[in-house]
Amino acid sequence: MRREDYSVEKKLTSAFRHAIEIQIKRFRSSNRNTACVDCGVMTTLTVDQINHFEGLCYDFLKLHPHHPAEFAKAPITSQDIFSKNDAAYRKLWEDYHQKEANLQILCLACNQGRPNVEIDLEAGRRFFQET
Ligand SMILES: [Zn+2]
Repeated sequence: MRREDYSVEKKLTSAFRHAIEIQIKRFRSSNRNTACVDCGVMTTLTVDQINHFEGLCYDFLKLHPHHPAEFAKAPITSQDIFSKNDAAYRKLWEDYHQKEANLQILCLACNQGRPNVEIDLEAGRRFFQET
């Protein structure tokens, strides 16, 4: 893979992640009084994606391969995000993620007891490097 391609995919991963942050936050706040689905504790709760983020990105790209190649920057974090022109693509991804991610509430201990389920930017990077 050419160097430029890798950089586009890194930005794309960042934009994918940014686009679903609101979903994760929303899920978390609407489940404030939910216990860990595995052990029932009510402390140190995290949002777990039953389907891994990198796998979802991969499957989504198979369905929608014509992804944006240019990105905007988030104002504060300067993270790569979808530009306004790509709102339609972003919406496709958000809908796909909403449907497929299967979010659930897990406490930190149960979450860490499951391999590779943490929402992990490095995992996304590794995924793209290997392809
Ligand atoms: Zn637990």
